Amino acid sequence: MRIRPPFAILLLAAGLLAAPPAAVVHGGAGSPRARMDGTDPAAAKALAALKAGGSALDGALAGVVALEDDPRFNAGTGANIRLDGKTIQMDAACMDGATGGYGAVAAIERVKNPVLVARKVMDTPHLLIVGEGATRFARAMGFPDYDPTCAENKARFQRVQAILKGSDPRQIEAWKRYDWKKAWNFPTPLKEALGSPDTVGCVTRDAKGNFAAAISTGGTTITFYGRVGDVPMFGAGIYAGPKGAVACTGNGEDIIKHLVAKTTYDLLAQGLPAQEAVDRALKAFPPTIDLGLVAVGPATTGGGCNYSAEKKAFVTDYRNQMAWSVRE
Ligand code: ASP
Repeated sequence: MRIRPPFAILLLAAGLLAAPPAAVVHGGAGSPRARMDGTDPAAAKALAALKAGGSALDGALAGVVALEDDPRFNAGTGANIRLDGKTIQMDAACMDGATGGYGAVAAIERVKNPVLVARKVMDTPHLLIVGEGATRFARAMGFPDYDPTCAENKARFQRVQAILKGSDPRQIEAWKRYDWKKAWNFPTPLKEALGSPDTVGCVTRDAKGNFAAAISTGGTTITFYGRVGDVPMFGAGIYAGPKGAVACTGNGEDIIKHLVAKTTYDLLAQGLPAQEAVDRALKAFPPTIDLGLVAVGPATTGGGCNYSAEKKAFVTDYRNQMAWSVRE
C-alpha cells in the first residue's frame, strides 16, 4: 500500500512508520568540501547495503570501509604516518543501536580495515582491544598483514612540518605550551614532523528503523606512540541507540572530555531533529577546538563542523564545512 505524504509524516511523528533507510558519512574535521567526491560514493555504498536488506550496522561498516580504502582519508589505507616517519597506529569502533553491541580497537597496526576488526571485537565478551593485542586478534580472525602506507600519507607526512611552524589554528593551546620533543617515546629517534588529523565516520538508519554508527582514524596531529583518541572510547567518538546514531571527528582529547557522541545522542533521544542536535553540540563545544559530527534520527539527518579547511579558520556556519554526505 502506498502511504500518501501527509499521512506518512503523521505516522512517522507517531513512531508508527519507519522512515526510509539513510546514511550520513563524514571525511573528518580537516577535510575540504571538495573531498565530497569521496564521501558521496561512501554514503551511496552505505545506502546500497541498507537497501539490499542489510542492517544499520552493515550499512555503517560499508560506508566506513569505503573511506578506509580511499587513500586520501586518514583511516585505513592512507592513515597518518606517526612522528617517527614509519609507524601507523589506527583506532576504530562500531556500535549497533538495536542491540547496544559495541566493539573497538585502538593503536592497531598493519591491517587494511580496522573497522572490520572492531566489528569482530563486538562478538567477544570485550569492548576494546588495544595495541599488539589488537593486531594479533586481527590475525586470529583472519585479517592478513597489510601496510597502510601509500603515496598519499607519505606526501602528507612531508607537508606537516608547515603545521609545526605555526600557520594552522588547530594547533591546540596545550601543544603550543608543551615541549613534546622532550617526551619523544618512539622506538626510533625524533624526526621533526607531524601527522595531520581526521577521522572517517558513518551513521545509518535501516529499513526497520534501527540505527548504527562506525568510525575509523589514523589519529591527530602531534601524536605519541600509543596515544588513543576519542574514536574507540565508549560514548565519545560514536554512539547509537534506539533513537539515532552519532559519529564525531576533531580533537579527540576534548571530544572525550565532553562525551560528545553520547551527549548529542541524548538530544536525539529527547526528540530534537538531527541537524539541531548537531548544531547544539557544536555550539556547546569550545569554539577554537575542532569538532565535526554527523547524526541520524528517526526521521532526520544532520551534520557540520566548526572548522573550515578552506579558510583554515574556525567558523559558525557549521553545516557548510567538512566533507560530509547524506544518502536516503
Ligand atoms: N578524533 C580523532 C582523534 O582524536 C581525530 C580526528 O577526527 O581528527 O583521534
